[in-house]
Amino acid sequence: MDQKLGRRDVLKHSAALGVVAVVGSAACSKPKALSCVDTTALSSADAQTRMTLQYVDNSVEPGKKCTSCQQFVPAAPDSCGTCKVVKGPINPNGYCKSFVAKPA
Ligand code: SF4
Repeated sequence: MDQKLGRRDVLKHSAALGVVAVVGSAACSKPKALSCVDTTALSSADAQTRMTLQYVDNSVEPGKKCTSCQQFVPAAPDSCGTCKVVKGPINPNGYCKSFVAKPA
């Protein structure tokens, strides 16, 4: 059997591979992690409170995240919320020492 490819065949297959590569890379791109750490607009007192309460953008406390805290004020989906205690942007996945679980 003759396995020679014509110029037209090569171009056709190359175009198909290009489409697969573009679609594949778009489907595999990870969503960017939400970052709520910009405290440049805070007063030094508010920034100090944030540090004293040891706010972190990603909780390492099992079952304790800002989104399950009574003090959390959510915003639009996939955006930083606010907090009644800690000033500045608050990540729904964050945590601080003032965590108070929402009632069940
Ligand atoms: Fe998050 Fe702490 Fe505010 Fe609760 S008090 S929402 S844990 S920053």
